[in-house]
Amino acid sequence: MKKIAIYGKGGIGKSTTVSNLSAAMAAIGLTVLQVGCDPKADSTRNLTGGTSIATVLEILRKSGDVELDDLVVKSSTGVLCVEAGGPVPGVGCAGRGIITAFEKLEELDAYGVYKPDVVLYDVLGDVVCGGFAMPIRGGYADEVCIVTSGEMMSLYAAANIAHAVKSLGKRGYASLRGLILNAKNIEGESELVDKAAAELAAPVIYRLPRDPFVQQAEAQGKTVVEAFPASAMAAHYLALARLLLKGAKTP
Ligand code: ATP
Ligand code: MG
Repeated sequence: MKKIAIYGKGGIGKSTTVSNLSAAMAAIGLTVLQVGCDPKADSTRNLTGGTSIATVLEILRKSGDVELDDLVVKSSTGVLCVEAGGPVPGVGCAGRGIITAFEKLEELDAYGVYKPDVVLYDVLGDVVCGGFAMPIRGGYADEVCIVTSGEMMSLYAAANIAHAVKSLGKRGYASLRGLILNAKNIEGESELVDKAAAELAAPVIYRLPRDPFVQQAEAQGKTVVEAFPASAMAAHYLALARLLLKGAKTP
């Protein structure tokens, strides 16, 4: 089982990238579990026809007596989808919610029952609290990838995340695999990301272009891999999926 956590600044394209990777990995025959670690709970929307699935925290709030099938939704593309969810707005802590969801999945033996080949965690924003660091710390993920564009704030967030991973990594937790450039088409973008990667001593694993098919697929509640399987963008997601699975580093 390969376990990869994908981090990055808010709105940078984590959920899009992760759900396309899940769909690509499922298309090559793997059992994939995608865990959305974001109180917005929209990580898996494009895998489930644009609808939101019930979150672990919502289900737990309704009933203490929960079964695994209540928490894990199998999408039409075959991806197993989980949304950790968040606390009632204004009450409680989002990070704590993620910890509760992770503990519940483990208690119900989700990993043993579904035996996924790959687990992908889509983790909101900066690592600002223990809950958001949970995928790195709890032995849940082996590797961390950071999605970034060449924009300063996105690179700044990437640096914060990289530092957190590296300092936790010393204690034997997940290691930093590298950066995924999700292009915003700003001037000199590739070079800006190369420079940041060099400073962080991390490779740029892949460069995803900006592509209108992403929005068109999203409008259909689908991933690009599902909606436009013959497109160049689908081929990019597939290539990145294969790279992450192989363990190869810089292209
Ligand atoms: P959040 O932190 O709010 O969860 P996120 O990092 O998960 O955000 P997404 O929701 O995946 O970001 O993407 C934000 C928007 O950017 C979406 O509308 C998506 O369609 C668009 N987007 C992401 N990647 C690309 C791309 N390569 N080409 C074109 N549009 C993209
Ligand atoms: Mg998201």
